[in-house]
Amino acid sequence: MALEGVSRTFAADPPAVALDGVDLAVAAGSLTAVLGPSGSGKSTLLGVLAGTVRPDSGTVHVGGREVDAPGRHVPPEHRRVGLVPQDGTLFPHLDVAGNVAFGLSGRPRSQRRERVAEMLELVGLASLSSRRPDELSGGQQQRVALARALAPAPDVVLLDEPFSALDTSLRSSLRAEVARVLSDAATTAILVTHDQEEALSMADRVVVLRDGRVVQDATPTEVYRSPADEWVAGFVGDAVLLDGELLGHGGGGARVRCVLGDLDVDVARNGPSPRGRVRVFLRPEQVWRHLPGDRGPVGEAPVGRVRRVRFTGAEMVVTLEVAGVEVTARWPSSLGNVSVGDRLALEVLGRGVAFPRDPDSA
Ligand code: ADP
Ligand code: MG
Repeated sequence: MALEGVSRTFAADPPAVALDGVDLAVAAGSLTAVLGPSGSGKSTLLGVLAGTVRPDSGTVHVGGREVDAPGRHVPPEHRRVGLVPQDGTLFPHLDVAGNVAFGLSGRPRSQRRERVAEMLELVGLASLSSRRPDELSGGQQQRVALARALAPAPDVVLLDEPFSALDTSLRSSLRAEVARVLSDAATTAILVTHDQEEALSMADRVVVLRDGRVVQDATPTEVYRSPADEWVAGFVGDAVLLDGELLGHGGGGARVRCVLGDLDVDVARNGPSPRGRVRVFLRPEQVWRHLPGDRGPVGEAPVGRVRRVRFTGAEMVVTLEVAGVEVTARWPSSLGNVSVGDRLALEVLGRGVAFPRDPDSA
């Protein structure tokens, strides 16, 4: 599955550039998440793959076949693409088995029945085959929609924000279940979402889309730990961003000085190589309390004064003031209570990333 130089602008005033030169290659059998805010072009991208949206330029390959190119357009029904739409899209008058069998018309009855049973087994709904959609929970309905999309053994399955209508508690268990089903079925899948946790927890690869452009295409760990720029850093999770000075540079890494001390950092790939003044990026869980027995003398550690504490159960989010700068830390609550006003010695775990410092904000 691949897109090369795909652009699409919709007529509007001003014209809406939904996709702007998108290049994307998806490995067979993998699950790729396309992550971006509302309006970034995610649904347009799925439409281009499904064949319901024609690109203005570029080429599209699905299942090893060229399906869109200048002078060429394979219609949706001939693309071997399965779609799991956002919600409420089961046929209400058909039972579960009937919904799953929908894309199998034209096959012998016995083969159809066998395939439906196989798919319902796969999504764990074998016992509910004669239920109507309105007798199912939201999560069960989405699993039926997935079984329906997978039944004709498509080359690619496209999922458009498939969990957005579900309760938070249901969402995380269904995510794991859907990732397992897709992996068992060995299907190439593209999941579109604006939910970073969904993208990071489910996908083999995360493609970050912004204003119709791919701003990063990497593994979930890379996107989280080494975001391409400050915008990606803030979009895929909570970010600590501090002004810093570059001390030394070489071998792909660098050392910077900031309010949290002298830190080892990677230098961001995208953007100009920072000289002198940089922005230091960390995740809040890298800002750690210096506990008795930790390496290094406490006397040299930076000190933070607790300004706010937000307790979320397993974790606490602690806002600290360090040398006049606000820093957010995220700690397991098992680390012990902290209170507003406490002065804590801090240390940084792992490496940060150095971004160029925006000249306008200097
Ligand atoms: P997302 O799914 O990430 O929210 P979309 O692909 O739906 O983004 O939309 C991307 C941009 O293209 C938006 O600015 C949207 O308003 C515009 N757009 C999408 N579809 C159409 C359309 N059919 N007509 C006009 N503008 C559209
Ligand atoms: Mg959309």
